[in-house]
Amino acid sequence: MKYLVLLLVVWAGVWWIRQQRLNSMAQDATHPNPNTPQTMLPCKHCGIHVPEGDAVHGVSGSYCSASHRQAAEG
Ligand SMILES: [Zn+2]
Repeated sequence: MKYLVLLLVVWAGVWWIRQQRLNSMAQDATHPNPNTPQTMLPCKHCGIHVPEGDAVHGVSGSYCSASHRQAAEG
């Protein structure tokens, strides 16, 4: 009986470690590493560089904000 309890504790520990690993692997797949470099695009109006994901795209290029797109493209 004593060994059964010990075996159960060891099995629970292994199961818990596996769950932690699976969770961290799943998080890595859904959330890319924030330290990876991003493409920076210059604003056609003021020249400031903004990350590609935050840039506002217009007809003639990318802008840092919607107001600069409006100012440049009318
Ligand atoms: Zn700008």
